[in-house]
Amino acid sequence: MVHFVGAGPGAADLITLRGLKYLSEADVIIYAGSLINKELLNYGKAEAEMHNSAHMTLEKVIDVIKRAEKENKDTVRLHTGDPSIYGAIREQIDILKSMDIQYDVVPGVSSFCGAAASLNAEYTLPDVSQSVIITRMKGRTSVPERESIGSFAAHRSTMILFLSSGLTEELSKELIEGGYEKNTPVAVVYKATWPDEKIFRCTIESLHQTMKDNNITKTALILVGNFLGHDYERSKLYSPKFTHGFREGIK
Ligand code: SAH
Repeated sequence: MVHFVGAGPGAADLITLRGLKYLSEADVIIYAGSLINKELLNYGKAEAEMHNSAHMTLEKVIDVIKRAEKENKDTVRLHTGDPSIYGAIREQIDILKSMDIQYDVVPGVSSFCGAAASLNAEYTLPDVSQSVIITRMKGRTSVPERESIGSFAAHRSTMILFLSSGLTEELSKELIEGGYEKNTPVAVVYKATWPDEKIFRCTIESLHQTMKDNNITKTALILVGNFLGHDYERSKLYSPKFTHGFREGIK
């Protein structure tokens, strides 16, 4: 059996109880060493076999799993944040399926949720934005043309950029050309929920300079939108006048 487990964004106590249980029972642990908090590995059995996937290809990862299966061992494949976001789990799952190896997926706290918590922010403010766009700049991995930053920027909704720290000059340009005001607030959250987390607040226009001044080149999220501003409407759900299935509003 293979468990794909979301390790959470950084702080070791942000893994789920289910993830922790599988981790502590695993015979083989394959972890994404570039981003996983190594403290989590202390929860593994002393005799558990550990592999850092940062040094491995997909083929190598599958070889380790195949061998573990032959020996009737349980494997945990530990991914950072939540495995469904830029986790490259689909390609692993498809191979396991083709080999009739059992697997399941345990969700994790994605770094974009960790970053919101660090900022005490809400991405979906009434009258500001009710949508969250999760995307990335194209780099060595391409992004479909119809998902250009410019086309998303036209909505001026909340936008979260993964994997884009090294591309902020172009990012700012595309955000502004696409439709955001250049003074739209931005927060950069470096290593959200880790002990050495850093938060930088700026605007789309000053984003690139802020990244340069603070030497941020990786492990950061760039959060864009007026959810970082002061204005919003209060929610209908908690308004005294609003009636719903669980509460009668004042007439
Ligand atoms: N599955 C992960 C994302 C993996 S892609 C998740 O759900 O969070 C790797 C990218 O995620 C990094 O380049 C960075 O943009 C972002 N990231 C991961 N952990 C982070 C953290 N603790 N703080 C800020 N960004 C993080």
